[in-house]
Amino acid sequence: MKAPRANRYRTAWAGDFRAADVGEEIRVAGWVHRRRDHGGLIFVDLRDRSGLLQLVFRPDEAPEAHAAAHGLRAEDVISASGALAHREEGTVNAELPTGEVELEVHAVDVLADADTPPFQVDEEEPVGEELRLRYRYLDIRKRRMTEALALRHDVARAMREALSAEGFLEVETPMLTRSTPEGARDFLVPSRHQQGSWYALPQSPQLFKQLLMVGGLERYFQIVRCFRDEDLRAERQPEFTQLDLEMSFVEEDDVIETCDRLLEAVLAVAGIGVSTPLERVTYDEVMLRYGSDRPDRRRGTEIGDLSEAFRGSEFNVFARALGDGGVVRGLKAAGDFPRRRFDDLTERAQGLGAKGLVWAVVEEDGWRSPVAKFLSRDEIDRATDSLGARTGDAILIVADRAEIAARVLGALRADVAPPAAAGQHDVFWVTDFPMFEWSEGESRWDPLHHPFTAPVGDLDGDPGTWRSRGYDVVMDGWEIGGGSIRINRIDVQRRVFEALGIGADEADERFGFLLEALRYGAPPHGGIAFGLDRIVALLAGRDSIREVIAFPKTATGWDPLTDAPAPVGDEQLRELGVSSRPRKGGR
Ligand code: ASP
Repeated sequence: MKAPRANRYRTAWAGDFRAADVGEEIRVAGWVHRRRDHGGLIFVDLRDRSGLLQLVFRPDEAPEAHAAAHGLRAEDVISASGALAHREEGTVNAELPTGEVELEVHAVDVLADADTPPFQVDEEEPVGEELRLRYRYLDIRKRRMTEALALRHDVARAMREALSAEGFLEVETPMLTRSTPEGARDFLVPSRHQQGSWYALPQSPQLFKQLLMVGGLERYFQIVRCFRDEDLRAERQPEFTQLDLEMSFVEEDDVIETCDRLLEAVLAVAGIGVSTPLERVTYDEVMLRYGSDRPDRRRGTEIGDLSEAFRGSEFNVFARALGDGGVVRGLKAAGDFPRRRFDDLTERAQGLGAKGLVWAVVEEDGWRSPVAKFLSRDEIDRATDSLGARTGDAILIVADRAEIAARVLGALRADVAPPAAAGQHDVFWVTDFPMFEWSEGESRWDPLHHPFTAPVGDLDGDPGTWRSRGYDVVMDGWEIGGGSIRINRIDVQRRVFEALGIGADEADERFGFLLEALRYGAPPHGGIAFGLDRIVALLAGRDSIREVIAFPKTATGWDPLTDAPAPVGDEQLRELGVSSRPRKGGR
């Protein structure tokens, strides 16, 4: 940090003093981190954002300051002046950058008193999340939070610098807008002037960035807040931040290579080196090998296809699955597998939609498994070999439709695979996604990305066979970015809407502005958005994005600090032309 201008509160940052500064007359300001009374002497660790500095109050040399120090409590705000001195022999603290020095205080001003804080700022003892968020400003005083927010700043700056250097322009897009479908519910804002009409907060700036491309801007980016009213999930926040970007006259390679350079610069902020070009893996391959489109590949185990090993098998379960066009896939796991664990895994597999789970333990002379008696020795050996399993390993097998086998084994893999080694990272692209997935619940196609993604395939044929020009980036088991080459032709856009069950009238009503823009010369374009919160959490080594957001909400979307959301008065609702009839559970 640049040195502050010397004023009545401070002449320098407390954390910056070293032995070479001894003898200087200085003034520092900050919070009472800790106070210790040693008979006559009082020691105070003063904290500002730069760090800690020990202050000494001596009764004989500065009786007034000493008396004031008596009354100091944790988190009081003070300014203290005096001379910087060496610490006495034997009291040097090697852990602290300022550990060789201390301030002999001559005078102290108490600038603000603090009540006893609800949790201690000077300790890393675990504090419940609700309490931390309720008093977030105290939580932010902790080193852990200050560091996370500083890293977040550095990441955002690296993004801005990397993209600016390549000619991208940062452009803001509206927060009060119309719905942008990204697969979640909208947050709505009522209009006072046009009662009965509502703005939607953007789920992403998707359509505006496409319009910027129609506007000839060529390269756009924005670090932008997005809002998605989703079902509660631990790793989601109703508002989150994206690095959003878009480019014109590009193909997949152009966007991906730009992002490789960008990610290299961003990861370097945390000292993480990656070799570029980042690896690209197709969706089909990643689903086959890991049963997930955002696997943590650092966790050794892979899924193997056993369909060939069991083709022609007389074991009913396998024969039926293969006969119906399904697959037999398996996973090997090392470790301790008492019977109960297999029962639990079987239950979990069934909960995820599998008809059952076949398990086995590899022994010297075959498998210990309830189904071993239905399998030939050849089948057993082929399956063991193709999974690379060794004596003592457990094997989990699902025979089902390919999507179900992938989903179930992917989930089981996450349960049984060994943990990733500390400090190891894995960043790669997933490409060649299907355009849609079938939503059983809604009986319709849902886009894997969003409806503006360019499809590939026979557009007159079955939408289930279309692929998309989408791509995702995965890091350490988290999807950190996703994007696509977009549709820039009106007929194709209409066809995709139609496949999604959005008729021409509805398309005109909801997306008329986009369809119209496509009539005025829309360049081929594509882009991507990265999840800033996730990236910073990964770089900071935190397991929750709430650790890297200054004022996050709880997993239920509640802000314990401001107590939002909150009811509003009748008058305010009347002005907006809104009446509210909460269902049970509202307030
Ligand atoms: N709008 C997309 C999203 O928010 C990203 C993109 O396609 O660029 O996921």
